[in-house]
Amino acid sequence: MKIAEIRTHLLDVALETPFESASMRFSRRQHVLVEVICDDGTIGWGECLGPAAPNAAVVAAYAPHLIGRDPLATEVIWQDMYNLLRDQGQRGLTMTALSGIDIALWDIKGKRFGVPVSVLLGGRVRETVRAYATGGFRRDGVDRVTDNAEDCARHVAQGFHAVKIKIGFDVAEDLAVIRAVREAIGPDARLMIDANHGYSVGEALALGRQAADYGIDWFEEPVIPEHLSGYAEVRAGQPIPVAGGETWHGRFGFAEPLARRVIDIAQPDLCGSGGFTETRRIADMCALHGIRLVPHVWGTGVQIAAALQFVAALLPDPPRRAPLAPILEYDRTHNPFRQAVLTRPLEPEAGVFTIPDAPGLGIEINRDALREFAPRA
Ligand SMILES: [Mg+2]
Repeated sequence: MKIAEIRTHLLDVALETPFESASMRFSRRQHVLVEVICDDGTIGWGECLGPAAPNAAVVAAYAPHLIGRDPLATEVIWQDMYNLLRDQGQRGLTMTALSGIDIALWDIKGKRFGVPVSVLLGGRVRETVRAYATGGFRRDGVDRVTDNAEDCARHVAQGFHAVKIKIGFDVAEDLAVIRAVREAIGPDARLMIDANHGYSVGEALALGRQAADYGIDWFEEPVIPEHLSGYAEVRAGQPIPVAGGETWHGRFGFAEPLARRVIDIAQPDLCGSGGFTETRRIADMCALHGIRLVPHVWGTGVQIAAALQFVAALLPDPPRRAPLAPILEYDRTHNPFRQAVLTRPLEPEAGVFTIPDAPGLGIEINRDALREFAPRA
Protein backbone atom coordinates (compact mmCIF):
# COMPACT_ATOMS: atom_id res chain seq x y z
CA MET A 1 0.00 0.00 0.00
CA LYS A 2 1.33 3.42 -1.00
CA ILE A 3 0.11 7.00 -0.63
CA ALA A 4 -1.22 8.06 -4.04
CA GLU A 5 -2.75 11.48 -3.42
CA ILE A 6 -3.39 14.05 -0.70
CA ARG A 7 -6.35 16.42 -0.96
CA THR A 8 -7.76 19.12 1.27
CA HIS A 9 -11.41 20.10 1.59
CA LEU A 10 -12.16 23.65 2.74
CA LEU A 11 -15.46 24.16 4.55
CA ASP A 12 -16.95 27.60 4.92
CA VAL A 13 -20.21 29.13 6.09
CA ALA A 14 -21.21 32.69 7.06
CA LEU A 15 -22.74 33.07 10.53
CA GLU A 16 -26.01 34.95 10.93
CA THR A 17 -24.95 36.12 14.40
CA PRO A 18 -21.18 36.65 14.64
CA PHE A 19 -19.58 35.89 18.01
CA GLU A 20 -16.35 36.63 19.85
CA SER A 21 -13.95 35.19 22.36
CA ALA A 22 -11.58 37.57 24.13
CA SER A 23 -9.03 37.15 21.34
CA MET A 24 -10.94 36.21 18.20
CA ARG A 25 -14.02 37.24 16.22
CA PHE A 26 -16.02 34.67 14.26
CA SER A 27 -18.21 35.90 11.42
CA ARG A 28 -17.74 32.64 9.49
CA ARG A 29 -17.00 29.04 10.41
CA GLN A 30 -14.08 27.74 8.38
CA HIS A 31 -12.35 24.39 8.80
CA VAL A 32 -10.28 22.10 6.60
CA LEU A 33 -10.30 18.32 6.23
CA VAL A 34 -7.38 16.29 4.88
CA GLU A 35 -8.01 13.28 2.64
CA VAL A 36 -5.17 10.82 2.06
CA ILE A 37 -5.83 8.36 -0.78
CA CYS A 38 -3.85 5.14 -1.17
CA ASP A 39 -3.14 3.21 -4.37
CA ASP A 40 -5.36 0.32 -3.19
CA GLY A 41 -8.32 2.67 -2.72
CA THR A 42 -8.04 3.01 1.08
CA ILE A 43 -8.84 6.54 2.21
CA GLY A 44 -7.93 8.23 5.49
CA TRP A 45 -9.38 11.44 6.91
CA GLY A 46 -7.85 14.09 9.14
CA GLU A 47 -8.48 17.67 10.16
CA CYS A 48 -6.25 20.66 10.93
CA LEU A 49 -6.92 23.08 13.78
CA GLY A 50 -6.97 26.76 12.86
CA PRO A 51 -7.32 28.82 9.69
CA ALA A 52 -8.48 26.64 6.81
CA ALA A 53 -6.76 28.08 3.72
CA PRO A 54 -3.28 28.54 5.31
CA ASN A 55 -3.47 24.98 6.70
CA ALA A 56 -4.39 23.67 3.24
CA ALA A 57 -1.37 25.49 1.77
CA VAL A 58 1.00 23.84 4.27
CA VAL A 59 -0.59 20.40 3.68
CA ALA A 60 0.06 20.99 -0.05
CA ALA A 61 3.72 21.74 0.79
CA TYR A 62 4.10 18.43 2.63
CA ALA A 63 2.19 16.37 0.04
CA PRO A 64 4.88 15.84 -2.65
CA HIS A 65 7.16 14.39 0.04
CA LEU A 66 4.56 11.75 0.95
CA ILE A 67 3.43 10.44 -2.43
CA GLY A 68 4.61 6.86 -3.04
CA ARG A 69 5.36 6.19 0.63
CA ASP A 70 4.01 3.53 2.98
CA PRO A 71 1.15 5.16 4.96
CA LEU A 72 1.69 2.74 7.85
CA ALA A 73 5.10 4.31 8.62
CA THR A 74 3.45 7.00 10.74
CA GLU A 75 6.43 7.61 13.02
CA VAL A 76 8.93 7.93 10.15
CA ILE A 77 6.63 10.15 8.08
CA TRP A 78 5.90 12.37 11.11
CA GLN A 79 9.60 12.94 11.69
CA ASP A 80 10.27 13.63 8.00
CA MET A 81 7.46 16.21 7.82
CA TYR A 82 8.66 17.88 11.00
CA ASN A 83 12.25 17.97 9.73
CA LEU A 84 11.14 19.41 6.39
CA LEU A 85 9.85 22.66 7.94
CA ARG A 86 11.61 22.63 11.31
CA ASP A 87 13.78 25.69 10.62
CA GLN A 88 10.73 27.87 9.94
CA GLY A 89 8.25 25.74 11.85
CA GLN A 90 8.24 23.92 15.23
CA ARG A 91 4.74 25.12 16.11
CA GLY A 92 1.82 26.90 14.47
CA LEU A 93 0.67 26.06 10.96
CA THR A 94 3.49 23.63 10.25
CA MET A 95 2.24 21.54 13.20
CA THR A 96 -1.49 21.93 12.60
CA ALA A 97 -1.07 20.86 8.95
CA LEU A 98 1.15 17.94 9.98
CA SER A 99 -1.50 16.93 12.55
CA GLY A 100 -4.22 16.66 9.91
CA ILE A 101 -2.04 14.38 7.76
CA ASP A 102 -0.99 12.25 10.74
CA ILE A 103 -4.62 11.67 11.79
CA ALA A 104 -5.49 10.58 8.24
CA LEU A 105 -2.57 8.11 8.24
CA TRP A 106 -3.78 6.56 11.54
CA ASP A 107 -7.28 6.30 10.04
CA ILE A 108 -5.71 4.36 7.13
CA LYS A 109 -3.72 2.18 9.53
CA GLY A 110 -6.88 1.31 11.46
CA LYS A 111 -8.72 0.43 8.25
CA ARG A 112 -5.74 -1.66 7.06
CA PHE A 113 -5.82 -3.79 10.24
CA GLY A 114 -9.60 -3.65 10.72
CA VAL A 115 -9.45 -2.06 14.18
CA PRO A 116 -10.24 1.37 15.63
CA VAL A 117 -7.31 3.73 16.20
CA SER A 118 -7.83 3.31 19.97
CA VAL A 119 -6.85 -0.36 19.64
CA LEU A 120 -3.70 0.61 17.71
CA LEU A 121 -2.89 3.04 20.53
CA GLY A 122 -2.81 0.12 22.95
CA GLY A 123 -6.41 -0.73 23.70
CA ARG A 124 -9.67 0.74 24.86
CA VAL A 125 -9.90 1.70 28.51
CA ARG A 126 -13.48 2.92 28.07
CA GLU A 127 -16.38 2.80 25.60
CA THR A 128 -18.00 6.11 26.58
CA VAL A 129 -16.82 9.54 27.65
CA ARG A 130 -18.70 12.43 29.22
CA ALA A 131 -18.77 15.64 27.20
CA TYR A 132 -18.71 19.14 28.55
CA ALA A 133 -20.52 21.88 26.64
CA THR A 134 -18.46 24.81 25.36
CA GLY A 135 -20.33 28.00 24.62
CA GLY A 136 -20.60 31.36 26.29
CA PHE A 137 -19.11 33.48 23.54
CA ARG A 138 -20.07 37.14 23.27
CA ARG A 139 -22.71 37.35 20.53
CA ASP A 140 -23.38 40.51 18.56
CA GLY A 141 -26.38 42.48 19.77
CA VAL A 142 -27.16 40.15 22.70
CA ASP A 143 -26.86 40.81 26.45
CA ARG A 144 -23.94 38.64 27.52
CA VAL A 145 -25.08 37.98 31.07
CA THR A 146 -28.59 36.68 30.33
CA ASP A 147 -27.49 34.99 27.09
CA ASN A 148 -24.83 32.94 28.91
CA ALA A 149 -27.14 32.05 31.79
CA GLU A 150 -29.90 30.82 29.47
CA ASP A 151 -27.46 28.99 27.21
CA CYS A 152 -25.76 27.13 30.06
CA ALA A 153 -29.06 26.23 31.74
CA ARG A 154 -30.13 24.70 28.41
CA HIS A 155 -26.94 22.60 28.21
CA VAL A 156 -27.45 21.27 31.72
CA ALA A 157 -31.12 20.52 30.99
CA GLN A 158 -29.92 18.50 27.95
CA GLY A 159 -27.83 16.33 30.26
CA PHE A 160 -24.36 17.91 30.15
CA HIS A 161 -22.67 17.60 33.54
CA ALA A 162 -20.39 20.58 32.86
CA VAL A 163 -20.30 23.81 30.88
CA LYS A 164 -17.50 26.17 29.87
CA ILE A 165 -17.98 29.87 29.27
CA LYS A 166 -15.83 32.59 27.75
CA ILE A 167 -14.33 35.38 29.84
CA GLY A 168 -11.27 37.61 29.36
CA PHE A 169 -13.28 40.66 28.20
CA ASP A 170 -13.60 42.74 31.37
CA VAL A 171 -13.14 41.51 34.95
CA ALA A 172 -16.30 43.09 36.42
CA GLU A 173 -18.53 42.05 33.52
CA ASP A 174 -16.99 38.56 33.43
CA LEU A 175 -17.76 38.13 37.15
CA ALA A 176 -21.37 39.15 36.52
CA VAL A 177 -21.57 36.47 33.81
CA ILE A 178 -20.04 33.81 36.08
CA ARG A 179 -22.45 34.70 38.90
CA ALA A 180 -25.48 34.53 36.59
CA VAL A 181 -24.39 31.23 35.05
CA ARG A 182 -23.80 29.59 38.43
CA GLU A 183 -27.24 30.70 39.54
CA ALA A 184 -28.80 29.38 36.32
CA ILE A 185 -27.14 25.93 36.38
CA GLY A 186 -27.49 25.30 40.12
CA PRO A 187 -24.85 24.15 42.59
CA ASP A 188 -24.14 20.66 41.19
CA ALA A 189 -23.25 21.27 37.53
CA ARG A 190 -19.54 21.75 36.88
CA LEU A 191 -18.43 25.13 35.51
CA MET A 192 -15.19 26.08 33.73
CA ILE A 193 -14.02 29.49 32.50
CA ASP A 194 -11.84 30.26 29.47
CA ALA A 195 -10.17 33.67 29.07
CA ASN A 196 -8.67 32.88 25.62
CA HIS A 197 -5.55 34.69 26.88
CA GLY A 198 -7.39 38.01 27.11
CA TYR A 199 -6.16 39.05 30.57
CA SER A 200 -3.05 40.61 31.98
CA VAL A 201 -1.58 38.74 34.97
CA GLY A 202 -3.09 41.28 37.37
CA GLU A 203 -6.57 40.93 35.85
CA ALA A 204 -6.34 37.13 35.89
CA LEU A 205 -5.39 37.18 39.57
CA ALA A 206 -8.26 39.53 40.44
CA LEU A 207 -10.78 37.46 38.48
CA GLY A 208 -9.55 34.13 39.85
CA ARG A 209 -9.66 35.26 43.47
CA GLN A 210 -13.25 36.48 43.16
CA ALA A 211 -14.55 33.75 40.82
CA ALA A 212 -13.35 30.91 43.07
CA ASP A 213 -16.44 31.35 45.29
CA TYR A 214 -18.62 30.17 42.39
CA GLY A 215 -17.08 26.69 42.24
CA ILE A 216 -14.93 26.75 39.08
CA ASP A 217 -13.21 23.54 37.93
CA TRP A 218 -10.56 25.29 35.83
CA PHE A 219 -9.39 28.68 34.58
CA GLU A 220 -8.29 28.23 30.94
CA GLU A 221 -5.70 30.32 29.10
CA PRO A 222 -5.64 33.18 31.62
CA VAL A 223 -2.77 34.98 29.84
CA ILE A 224 -0.97 34.73 26.48
CA PRO A 225 0.50 31.26 25.89
CA GLU A 226 4.04 32.57 25.43
CA HIS A 227 4.04 34.05 28.94
CA LEU A 228 4.90 31.03 31.09
CA SER A 229 6.02 33.15 34.04
CA GLY A 230 2.62 34.85 33.91
CA TYR A 231 0.95 31.42 33.99
CA ALA A 232 3.06 30.52 37.03
CA GLU A 233 2.02 33.72 38.81
CA VAL A 234 -1.66 33.10 38.07
CA ARG A 235 -1.43 29.50 39.25
CA ALA A 236 0.32 30.50 42.50
CA GLY A 237 -1.73 33.62 43.21
CA GLN A 238 -5.36 32.46 42.97
CA PRO A 239 -7.15 29.25 43.99
CA ILE A 240 -8.70 27.96 40.71
CA PRO A 241 -6.78 25.19 38.86
CA VAL A 242 -5.18 26.56 35.67
CA ALA A 243 -5.64 24.91 32.25
CA GLY A 244 -3.93 25.55 28.92
CA GLY A 245 -2.19 24.05 25.95
CA GLU A 246 -4.33 24.41 22.82
CA THR A 247 -1.47 26.38 21.22
CA TRP A 248 1.51 24.57 22.77
CA HIS A 249 2.10 22.33 19.81
CA GLY A 250 4.14 19.17 19.96
CA ARG A 251 6.22 17.65 22.74
CA PHE A 252 8.65 20.55 22.64
CA GLY A 253 5.77 23.00 23.02
CA PHE A 254 4.57 21.17 26.14
CA ALA A 255 7.97 20.38 27.68
CA GLU A 256 8.51 23.64 29.53
CA PRO A 257 4.91 24.29 30.70
CA LEU A 258 4.80 20.75 32.12
CA ALA A 259 8.25 20.79 33.69
CA ARG A 260 7.62 24.19 35.28
CA ARG A 261 4.13 23.03 36.38
CA VAL A 262 2.47 26.25 35.22
CA ILE A 263 -0.82 24.36 34.63
CA ASP A 264 -2.95 21.76 36.42
CA ILE A 265 -4.71 20.56 33.26
CA ALA A 266 -3.09 20.16 29.81
CA GLN A 267 -5.28 20.65 26.74
CA PRO A 268 -3.49 19.46 23.60
CA ASP A 269 -5.65 19.39 20.47
CA LEU A 270 -5.18 16.25 18.33
CA CYS A 271 -5.50 18.44 15.22
CA GLY A 272 -2.81 20.88 16.36
CA SER A 273 -0.41 19.17 18.73
CA GLY A 274 0.91 16.71 16.15
CA GLY A 275 -1.85 14.15 15.60
CA PHE A 276 -1.97 10.77 17.35
CA THR A 277 1.77 10.21 16.91
CA GLU A 278 2.82 13.24 18.95
CA THR A 279 -0.13 13.68 21.32
CA ARG A 280 0.50 10.15 22.61
CA ARG A 281 3.93 11.35 23.68
CA ILE A 282 2.41 14.46 25.27
CA ALA A 283 0.08 12.18 27.28
CA ASP A 284 3.14 10.29 28.56
CA MET A 285 4.77 13.60 29.49
CA CYS A 286 1.62 14.66 31.38
CA ALA A 287 1.72 11.37 33.30
CA LEU A 288 5.38 11.95 34.06
CA HIS A 289 4.51 15.26 35.68
CA GLY A 290 1.18 14.22 37.24
CA ILE A 291 -0.81 16.68 35.12
CA ARG A 292 -4.33 15.85 33.94
CA LEU A 293 -5.00 15.80 30.18
CA VAL A 294 -8.34 17.01 28.77
CA PRO A 295 -8.19 17.35 24.96
CA HIS A 296 -9.14 20.61 23.31
CA VAL A 297 -11.72 20.15 20.51
CA TRP A 298 -12.84 22.86 18.08
CA GLY A 299 -13.78 21.50 14.70
CA THR A 300 -15.92 19.08 12.72
CA GLY A 301 -16.99 15.52 13.40
CA VAL A 302 -13.61 14.35 12.09
CA GLN A 303 -11.85 16.13 14.93
CA ILE A 304 -14.40 14.83 17.44
CA ALA A 305 -13.83 11.30 16.14
CA ALA A 306 -10.06 11.65 16.51
CA ALA A 307 -10.38 12.97 20.07
CA LEU A 308 -12.78 10.13 20.96
CA GLN A 309 -10.29 7.49 19.75
CA PHE A 310 -7.57 9.19 21.75
CA VAL A 311 -9.49 9.37 25.03
CA ALA A 312 -10.69 5.77 24.56
CA ALA A 313 -7.06 4.70 25.03
CA LEU A 314 -6.03 7.29 27.64
CA LEU A 315 -4.80 5.45 30.73
CA PRO A 316 -6.28 6.37 34.13
CA ASP A 317 -3.91 8.62 36.02
CA PRO A 318 -3.61 8.05 38.89
CA PRO A 319 -4.82 4.45 38.62
CA ARG A 320 -7.33 3.58 41.32
CA ARG A 321 -10.48 1.52 41.65
CA ALA A 322 -12.71 4.42 40.55
CA PRO A 323 -10.31 6.58 38.54
CA LEU A 324 -10.96 10.12 37.39
CA ALA A 325 -12.29 9.60 33.86
CA PRO A 326 -11.31 11.93 31.01
CA ILE A 327 -13.89 14.34 29.66
CA LEU A 328 -14.20 15.76 26.16
CA GLU A 329 -14.92 19.27 24.96
CA TYR A 330 -18.06 19.62 22.82
CA ASP A 331 -18.49 22.93 21.02
CA ARG A 332 -22.15 24.02 21.14
CA THR A 333 -21.82 27.14 18.97
CA HIS A 334 -23.44 27.30 15.56
CA ASN A 335 -21.63 25.21 12.94
CA PRO A 336 -23.91 23.62 10.32
CA PHE A 337 -21.22 21.33 8.91
CA ARG A 338 -19.91 19.99 12.24
CA GLN A 339 -22.07 16.86 11.95
CA ALA A 340 -23.07 17.20 8.28
CA VAL A 341 -19.61 16.05 7.14
CA LEU A 342 -20.33 12.64 8.71
CA THR A 343 -22.79 10.11 7.29
CA ARG A 344 -23.80 9.34 10.89
CA PRO A 345 -23.60 12.21 13.40
CA LEU A 346 -21.27 11.83 16.37
CA GLU A 347 -23.21 13.55 19.12
CA PRO A 348 -23.38 12.95 22.84
CA GLU A 349 -26.60 11.54 24.24
CA ALA A 350 -27.58 13.12 27.56
CA GLY A 351 -24.03 14.51 27.67
CA VAL A 352 -22.24 11.20 27.00
CA PHE A 353 -20.44 10.14 23.80
CA THR A 354 -20.33 6.50 22.74
CA ILE A 355 -16.87 5.97 21.23
CA PRO A 356 -17.03 4.46 17.70
CA ASP A 357 -15.53 0.98 17.36
CA ALA A 358 -15.43 0.70 13.57
CA PRO A 359 -11.96 0.62 11.91
CA GLY A 360 -9.78 3.74 11.94
CA LEU A 361 -11.59 6.83 13.20
CA GLY A 362 -14.84 4.87 12.95
CA ILE A 363 -16.56 7.41 10.71
CA GLU A 364 -17.65 7.82 7.11
CA ILE A 365 -17.56 11.14 5.27
CA ASN A 366 -20.59 12.63 3.56
CA ARG A 367 -19.17 14.00 0.32
CA ASP A 368 -22.39 15.88 -0.44
CA ALA A 369 -21.70 18.05 2.62
CA LEU A 370 -18.13 18.69 1.44
CA ARG A 371 -19.58 20.07 -1.79
CA GLU A 372 -22.39 21.96 -0.06
CA PHE A 373 -20.02 23.79 2.30
CA ALA A 374 -17.12 24.31 -0.10
CA PRO A 375 -16.20 28.00 -0.28
CA ARG A 376 -18.03 29.86 -3.06
CA ALA A 377 -15.68 31.43 -5.56
MG1 LIG B 1 -9.88 27.43 25.01
